[in-house]
Amino acid sequence: MYAFHYQKALSVAQASAALSRSGESRLLAGGMTLIPSLKHRLIQVDELIDIRGIPGLSDIRLEGDALWIGAAATHQQVARHAQVRALSAGLADLAGLIGDPQVRARGTLGGSVANNDPAADYPAAVLGLAATIVTSQREIAADDFFKGMFATALAQDEVIQGLRLAKPLKSAYAKFRHPATGYAMAGVFVAQTTPSTWRVAVTGATDGVCRWPEAEAAAAQAAGPSPADLRFVHDGVLDDIHAPAAYRAHLVGHLYAQAMAQLS
Ligand SMILES: Cc1cc2nc3c(=O)[nH]c(=O)nc-3n(C[C@H](O)[C@H](O)[C@H](O)COP(=O)(O)OP(=O)(O)OC[C@H]3O[C@@H](n4cnc5c(N)ncnc54)[C@H](O)[C@@H]3O)c2cc1C
Repeated sequence: MYAFHYQKALSVAQASAALSRSGESRLLAGGMTLIPSLKHRLIQVDELIDIRGIPGLSDIRLEGDALWIGAAATHQQVARHAQVRALSAGLADLAGLIGDPQVRARGTLGGSVANNDPAADYPAAVLGLAATIVTSQREIAADDFFKGMFATALAQDEVIQGLRLAKPLKSAYAKFRHPATGYAMAGVFVAQTTPSTWRVAVTGATDGVCRWPEAEAAAAQAAGPSPADLRFVHDGVLDDIHAPAAYRAHLVGHLYAQAMAQLS
């Protein structure tokens, strides 16, 4: 690890101001990605700004018909929260499938979404549920937020405050875990947002979370193709030592059928 300064932010405004003072500063949430990256000297920072103590940043609450989940809410909180399950069983199930109990106890929704690992689970739910990402500066629609591998629409000094989510009619998530890490070799989040509108988001299979328009159209047709007959066709299916592209594409089709079968 390189030497750095550490400070605890007491408000989102303070965290954002600290970020804007140096291009080499980072927010620290659960540290599940950041600390190993620092230890392995993959990144170097001048200043770490710890946001875990900001009052209210891990709140989960109803706001009218929508659900608010604070950026510092841990995966465990999301997985176990009754209002999350009432809003979207798919989201609660997804949070419970992340990593292991230690990771779920420390990792946060905001950290996962800001990091945008191509194999992370949350981006699939955020995109599938058409969430709004609320930051220190603005509100960003999920469709405009994810910009490919480890890239997002966030500016250097922008802090995610939380997510606002509308209740879907039904939702589900199916994932094939990487046996070593628990990350998604592939994961498919399915949500019926109106009687005739479906959103299908795929993670793990390409260089960043993406929607699957053919599956969305098929789900919207009462007499459309059976989920098991759909094939995932995409220019950028990942092909690496863990799985060849054809296997991953097949996995996406299988997980889509599985998610459709477990909708609630
Ligand atoms: C062993 C292991 C297994 C894992 N398995 C899975 C898995 O199966 N599925 C999965 O999805 N993930 C998995 N993860 C990742 C984990 O879920 C964390 O959510 C993820 O690593 C982010 O960690 P964090 O929330 O602690 O954020 P940190 O590591 O603290 O921060 C990550 C990045 O996000 C930035 N950031 C944090 N909070 C904010 C904010 N509010 N606004 C703006 N930027 C912010 C930080 O500056 C940093 O750049 C795993 C991690 C480990 C170590």
